[in-house]
Amino acid sequence: MQNFEVRCPSCGALNRVPADKEGIAGKCGSCRGELPPLYSHPLQLDDSTFNAFVSSYSGPVLVEFWAPW
Ligand SMILES: [Zn+2]
Repeated sequence: MQNFEVRCPSCGALNRVPADKEGIAGKCGSCRGELPPLYSHPLQLDDSTFNAFVSSYSGPVLVEFWAPW
């Protein structure tokens, strides 16, 4: 099982998150602060879901914009 490391935004500790916890918010192992949910695969959003996701997500977001021809 693959693991990812998520840095706690409150205390800076690295937390190991299993890849199957995709999209689930976790708790920091050292300060119990909230960790942003991990997305290890791209999430496809559209006009109606983009703003809601980006404005509610507490971690960094990498976006690729594309449009059909
Ligand atoms: Zn922490």
